Amino acid sequence: MKITFLGAAGEVTGSQHLIETDTKRILLDCGLFQGQEHETRSKNEKFHCSPRHVDCVILSHAHIDHSGRLPALYRAGFRGPIYCTRATADIATMMLQDSARIHQEDARYTNRKQDQDVPKITPLYNEEDARKVCRSFEYVTMGNWEEPAEDMKLRFRHAGHILGSAICELELMENGEWKRIVFTGDLGRRDKPLLIDPETVDRCDVVITESTYGNQVHPDSGDVKSQLKHVICDAASRGGRIVIPAFSLGRTQLIVYLLNELRNEHSLCRMPVYIDSPLATRLTDIYRNNQEHMDADVRATLRFDDDIFDFDGLTYVRSRDESIALNRSEGPLVVISASGMCENGRVVHHIKHAIGHDKNTILIIGFQARHTLGRQLVEKRDTVRIFGRPYSRRCHVETINGLSAHGDAEDLKWWFECLRRNGGTGRAFIVHGEKPAAKALSELIDDCCDESPIVPGPGDSFEI
Ligand SMILES: [Zn+2]
Repeated sequence: MKITFLGAAGEVTGSQHLIETDTKRILLDCGLFQGQEHETRSKNEKFHCSPRHVDCVILSHAHIDHSGRLPALYRAGFRGPIYCTRATADIATMMLQDSARIHQEDARYTNRKQDQDVPKITPLYNEEDARKVCRSFEYVTMGNWEEPAEDMKLRFRHAGHILGSAICELELMENGEWKRIVFTGDLGRRDKPLLIDPETVDRCDVVITESTYGNQVHPDSGDVKSQLKHVICDAASRGGRIVIPAFSLGRTQLIVYLLNELRNEHSLCRMPVYIDSPLATRLTDIYRNNQEHMDADVRATLRFDDDIFDFDGLTYVRSRDESIALNRSEGPLVVISASGMCENGRVVHHIKHAIGHDKNTILIIGFQARHTLGRQLVEKRDTVRIFGRPYSRRCHVETINGLSAHGDAEDLKWWFECLRRNGGTGRAFIVHGEKPAAKALSELIDDCCDESPIVPGPGDSFEI
């Protein structure tokens, strides 16, 4: 049996690992490499395995860096099943369509800007590829062992990262001997609102683990709900609006859930709240339909509140006209809108309208990469650039940390300590992290592995 690390090896995007036995070729994830276009394009175009000869894909979760090359895999000849949870299939169907549209628009834009004699580029895939590959999803119920073949067993456990995210337990037989391989996908955090916490696993031969925050401990987030309440009530007392840039998947639903909790506790001032992101609205429907992934607190709330993503005064904005109308409305209100780093989408317009007045607040709830508008806001610069023009910032900027969907070094250490108590692992391969993070994690988990953990490089293969 052989494993080859085709992506997310020494980096955090492009998750893809190939397992080969004498009868099977299985891909774990098929994610998009993300980053600067010129660096990632060729990495995304090339498959280092023959897609035609891949038997199946096991998809840990729907984030694009784990699922975003599936349509390209289909385009290149892959026709096998893609095993995932139902929630992952529903979310991926939506995200891949969205991703296809972005690839098509980017290709059109690049071709328009280039000289006539430069060869035209084609999008990595189109909406039809995305539609077709999504027909290959085969649902696996969380917690149930499935036997797709007589020499292959598969079970998903809760990863607590985003809705539907799974730790994959894979058992494969070769030459009469079963091997047990565990792939963590992305691991979430313990004791966080909404989703069931990450589950642990029993002794295995091989673990492939993520390491995004292998060398960091998240700052103590304190009580996120009461911070949210204070920021909103402060702005409301000034008669201002609160703009919350949020990723459509995960972060928006978490904030709406916390606002619903505050409303149920009668501790949130009454003011209109708008979710202004069509994608977030559709994804929230998927969250609503997959409540078996949610934790005990949610189940307790559902006994008296049948919709944790709705409350009096909450509006899911549908049309662009409604979105534009929000900028004309007076009085306190909350707008939650994408994108999460304020780089594009409707939120940029809301920021533009809020930035010039000191009664308003922009609330940042996620990591803001360098060179983004979000980063300029977090740094509380007096002047920020929006649509290429300078704007004076007079509004307040508040930040709530601690909403990361990834476990940190302590969460990862806890998960591996549980594994050690359950018998440990033969070998561990550390992926999905920058090198310092992966290396730090390898030291943290060394004592739960029979052999020293390995941080593979891109394309590295190992007999297992
Ligand atoms: Zn993820």
